[in-house]
Amino acid sequence: MERNLEGRVALVTGGSRGIGRAVAVELAGRGARVTLTYARGEEEAARTVELAGQRGGVAQARMCDQRDSEAVEELVSEVVEGQGGLDILVLNAGVTKDQYLMLMADDDFDRVIDTNLTGAFRFAKAACRPMMMRRSGAIVTVSSVAALFGVAGQVNYCASKGGLVAMTRALAAELAPKGVRVNAVLPGFVETDMTAKLPRQVKRQSAERILLGRFGKVEEVAGVVSFLVSDAASYIIGQSIVVDGGLTSTVS
Ligand code: NAP
Repeated sequence: MERNLEGRVALVTGGSRGIGRAVAVELAGRGARVTLTYARGEEEAARTVELAGQRGGVAQARMCDQRDSEAVEELVSEVVEGQGGLDILVLNAGVTKDQYLMLMADDDFDRVIDTNLTGAFRFAKAACRPMMMRRSGAIVTVSSVAALFGVAGQVNYCASKGGLVAMTRALAAELAPKGVRVNAVLPGFVETDMTAKLPRQVKRQSAERILLGRFGKVEEVAGVVSFLVSDAASYIIGQSIVVDGGLTSTVS
């Protein structure tokens, strides 16, 4: 693997499992010094650190519930001071709390927005100053195709992911003049714990709508994220890159 991120400092939220783990391992394998966050999955986060090591990379895990502004600010300061700056921020952590609107508790709406959208805002806010001061940096938000089409039972999730795309564009407009690039990745269905809990019939019907006929692999998202944070993407700003095996490219 090309070590094209050698010496960069990266922070990946939600790196204990799924897409975030693959991103953390990929960035570390490319030479970045990675800090990954988790909320509860200490053992899983330690496993990510181990996997990064097996790829010849350096990573550390930190518990940081991104619903807590103070914890987010403390972690970003720790990374910036401990590692001498912050070059790459991947805002990946997210949750679902699916329920039909009539049955959805206010708490379930709030929790998804607070984690997926406000959590990303908290990290972007804490990280933008050190990035702007060095006039360089790359931020990638992990949204979803749920930002593009409606999913019954996911009013909260769709709102959070649509908000993330809009926030990404606004961040890009604000930070590009300061040398910081911001882009979004919108995965379709990817094999992780999040999709493992979908009913079998929903999984089968969903796969039938995907041109490639299968769910994506976490590495297929991580590869796009690692491209977007690299110098090869130096002229890509404020974009939403869909990674969905063709799910949203056709009507079926
Ligand atoms: P996942 O396997 O469920 O992992 C979620 C990650 O987020 C875990 O590392 C989890 O940490 C972390 N997390 C959750 N709440 C947190 C909080 N309050 N503070 C800090 N970390 C928190 O999910 P995934 O499928 O990899 O999804 C990753 C991202 O991609 C999410 O934003 C998701 O919405 C998006 N996405 C996924 C798919 C898909 O098909 N899988 C499709 C489109 C978009 P713990 O281990 O500590 O719980």
